[in-house]
Amino acid sequence: MASSDSKQKRFIAGAICPLCNSVDRIYTLTGTEGMSRHCVDCDFNEDLEASQKAVPDIQTIKMPGT
Ligand SMILES: [Zn+2]
Repeated sequence: MASSDSKQKRFIAGAICPLCNSVDRIYTLTGTEGMSRHCVDCDFNEDLEASQKAVPDIQTIKMPGT
């Protein structure tokens, strides 16, 4: 089994790739060494500071109905 990858892959809703301009193709990888952003459509990748709290692309989705 090849399930030893401890990185968490998480797509960012509504995020636009700065390289190919595709929407909903950006995901973040969270590992022990920090966080990085990637695009599934092109070779875009960017390192993110895991210690930064205010990352503009990652927002809490508010549930409607309140
Ligand atoms: Zn892209």
